[in-house]
Amino acid sequence: MQFISTRGQAPSTSFTEALLMGLEPDGGLAVPTSIPTISAARLEEWRSLDYTALATAVIGLFATDIPEADLRRIVSAAYGPDRFPAPVVPLKPLDAVAPGLALVGLSEGPTMAFKDLAMQFLGQAIPYVLARDGKVLNILGATSGDTGSAAEHAFRGQKGVSVFMLSPAGRMSDVQRAQMYSLADPNIHNIAVDGVFDDCQALVKALNNDAAFKAEHNLGAVNSINIGRIVAQAVYYVWAWLRASDGVTPQERGAFHVDVAVPSGNFGNIYAGHLTRSMGLPVRRLILATNENNVLDEFFTSGIYRPRSSAETLATSSPSMDISRASNVERFMWQLLGPEEFVARWASLETTGALDLTDHLEAMRAEFGFVSGTSTHADRLAAINRVQSEAGALIDPHTADGVTVALRHMEPGFPTLVMETALAAKFAETVEEALGEAPQPPASVRELLAKEQHVVEIPNSEDELRALIARSAVR
Ligand SMILES: *Cc1c(COP(=O)(O)O)cnc(C)c1O
Repeated sequence: MQFISTRGQAPSTSFTEALLMGLEPDGGLAVPTSIPTISAARLEEWRSLDYTALATAVIGLFATDIPEADLRRIVSAAYGPDRFPAPVVPLKPLDAVAPGLALVGLSEGPTMAFKDLAMQFLGQAIPYVLARDGKVLNILGATSGDTGSAAEHAFRGQKGVSVFMLSPAGRMSDVQRAQMYSLADPNIHNIAVDGVFDDCQALVKALNNDAAFKAEHNLGAVNSINIGRIVAQAVYYVWAWLRASDGVTPQERGAFHVDVAVPSGNFGNIYAGHLTRSMGLPVRRLILATNENNVLDEFFTSGIYRPRSSAETLATSSPSMDISRASNVERFMWQLLGPEEFVARWASLETTGALDLTDHLEAMRAEFGFVSGTSTHADRLAAINRVQSEAGALIDPHTADGVTVALRHMEPGFPTLVMETALAAKFAETVEEALGEAPQPPASVRELLAKEQHVVEIPNSEDELRALIARSAVR
């Protein structure tokens, strides 16, 4: 399997080359040159597999330059019982809220958010490729919470890799901060910048634009556009369909379709859903949920994609979805338009600030099954409350956005799976606002909050960051 760039100006690569590259040299995203198919017979063969075996099979369709035995070792380490309790991704029925509604438990990993599922794969696959090729990597990133902690927990203690993670001083939740700063591994560097998240991102960008510094220190990233994250996320869509159809008779399985609702920000999670649907997984509709930062809902309802500036991006109570430029949507548009037309029309986005795809709106709905909706702070509180009172379950504010929009679109006869992108304990403040009382934090969270924290504080200064990396980079 080969991968090419959406922008069409970069040479094709293998999976492991695309994995290390992240962004393509022409600024585009890696896409597979062909889409493998999942037949009904293959799904039945996969039904008896545990999560690790299924991940080996699904990722193996794309990662064809990693020998199967090696891939199995990588995946077994990523999803082992020390990181995810069996069965890794549980289905949690919410029939008491609406018959056929269920959560897909994506947040059982070390940082209580769905990003662990993709990042733990990278945390094993990238060191494997580095060792094979005799390379090292210094991961430089900026985080407002979930990405940074998932990356640090995935790469802690790994050989040949260091992580330099910038975060805005004093602006993360207590749990997010503790998940990152409690790590004492020498290859993990927490850097609190005196500034906001945009300042952190600007520092990362400045260093990435310095090609000489970047090459000298082997700087890289593991952001949500990395192809390895996409294929690792594809696994749980297949898994969720299999588990949802376990109770259906074999004769009825051929016609068994589900709707899947996904709390979305950067379009990474739902793009993996779109990919598996394109492969033939029986998903009827992909229900995209945004918070008040609803650029993607606007796109899927009007056909016009108009990213917003960071100044226009609101700080909401589902902060991991406070995104106004959804990088991964580029992959979807590339498929929607085809390579040539994509390149021509993408240029208009850069000149006019908007992309008008109203002529493809019907295909987005009919052919690709997308519907969407916006959830507000009041909707989140109501959903957290309703799920608690009707089903006795606690959900986090991001999952609440998914539940809200799922219930708006749900139709009888179609089971609806909502991707649970974080656990309530990670965002206790909003859960408390919704329920009127703080959820009892699990013992693991109480222990975490009590741990000693390790962080270097720096001013919003490029020079200080350069000096810090030059001192501590793995080489
Ligand atoms: C990252 C994140 C999202 C958004 O996922 P995308 O892949 O960026 O669309 C939603 N919820 C939580 C809790 C997250 O951490």
